[in-house]
Amino acid sequence: MKTIIEPFRIKSVEPFRLTTRSQREAALRDAHHNLFLLRAEDVMIDLLTDSGTGAMSARQWAALMTGDESYAGCSSFYELEQVVRDLTGYRHVFPVHQGRAAERILFTLLVDRTKAVPNNSHFDTTRANIEYLGGSAHDFPVPQARDLGRPAPFKGDMDLDALRAFLDAATPGSVPLGMMTITNNRMGGQPVSLQNLRAVAAEYHGRGIPFFLDAARFAENAWLVRQREAGQQHRPLRDIVREVFELADGCLISAKKDGLVNIGGILALDDDALAERARELLILTEGFPTYGGLAGRDLAALAQGLREVLDENYLAYREASARYLADALDRLGVPTVRPCGLHAVYIDARAMLPHIPPSELPGQALCCELYRVGGIRAVEIGTLMFGRTDPRTGAAVPAEADLVRLCLPRRVYTQSHVDWVVEAFAEVMAGRERLRGLRITHEPRFLRAFTARLAPLACGTPEPAS
Ligand SMILES: *Cc1c(COP(=O)(O)O)cnc(C)c1O
Repeated sequence: MKTIIEPFRIKSVEPFRLTTRSQREAALRDAHHNLFLLRAEDVMIDLLTDSGTGAMSARQWAALMTGDESYAGCSSFYELEQVVRDLTGYRHVFPVHQGRAAERILFTLLVDRTKAVPNNSHFDTTRANIEYLGGSAHDFPVPQARDLGRPAPFKGDMDLDALRAFLDAATPGSVPLGMMTITNNRMGGQPVSLQNLRAVAAEYHGRGIPFFLDAARFAENAWLVRQREAGQQHRPLRDIVREVFELADGCLISAKKDGLVNIGGILALDDDALAERARELLILTEGFPTYGGLAGRDLAALAQGLREVLDENYLAYREASARYLADALDRLGVPTVRPCGLHAVYIDARAMLPHIPPSELPGQALCCELYRVGGIRAVEIGTLMFGRTDPRTGAAVPAEADLVRLCLPRRVYTQSHVDWVVEAFAEVMAGRERLRGLRITHEPRFLRAFTARLAPLACGTPEPAS
């Protein structure tokens, strides 16, 4: 048999409301054409993010009942600690309420105004936590990552020459840690090769710089290493995962992704002195070290999630679902970022809607239309999210690309849900010349994509001067 099927059946269902186009048009107006402002109950297929949106297994739900809620020394902590030690090899394991709490603790210990942190690409919160402390965050993605349609296998890799040049030029002591994000979320969830990770580790360690992984999607990365990297095909996944973690000195994990839970995170590391200081900060802002801002039941569900995520049938299904969607969009002529990773499919909205200039937010126009047509919520990763105003000239600077991301929550939607999404794209493609852009009518000072208000530009109306 060749068909890759969901390696699970459904025990508990969560109905959603089927809405009409006119209901959706009203909801979109009420949300000021910003899908973050929609009520989730007005969304049918929610592809906004894969973070904390997955379905737990029956065993995870059972673990919620048996979780130990003791304030100190709960058995659920020791269970989680053992699972994380077995996966990573790191001795010190700290639970935190989500990934960014781990970032804040680690960076508070290492980063200040004189410090710089290199990474293949910093995730938004990682960068923000470094910059909040006055440090600078530097991204060195490989050049092929910017070539959206080019099917290179490891577009998440670090540009080694750029990293070396950066480290050569850095003043001694100014780089307190070096990072790698697996998979590379900012670069479309593209994987990082083992070969690249080894070279980066050697580069950091050769200069005495501690190496930390931002490892939210460590299982998906290991799966793609085994699928795509020469010589890895016959290796047990657990071995690949272990080698990856052993190359580094510690990791930050948002458990809302490959932890298969709705909330949670982990900071794990080897250095005793650093761990001692992390423990102090953890108690200050998260909680006692054996619960770290989570309930005992959350720790138990996370331990079980980490046991399940390396199941090869699960990862094969996850890859097949992303590829199924990407291939169907390809057949419709929708330009997607290639190759697709595991957690999302990205659409090049600028290429799909060439008549809408970046200043009129083609990605957001596509998101709004997908919602109108199919009640689908996607997210714009483009000029609405990353465009800015030049402080000197006052001119609007568009983002490098205008992408739309369709994230796939883990174990949540079935193939007919994906068929619905594909049918919505067919309808959008058929009428795409008629789509118009948007303008921003209310712009907050920070992170505008989350709360900005927008209005559609009417046919043939010139853009009003702002
Ligand atoms: C989600 C994510 C984070 C932040 O984690 P939260 O749990 O959302 O706080 C950090 N890095 C990467 C790569 C992520 O995907």
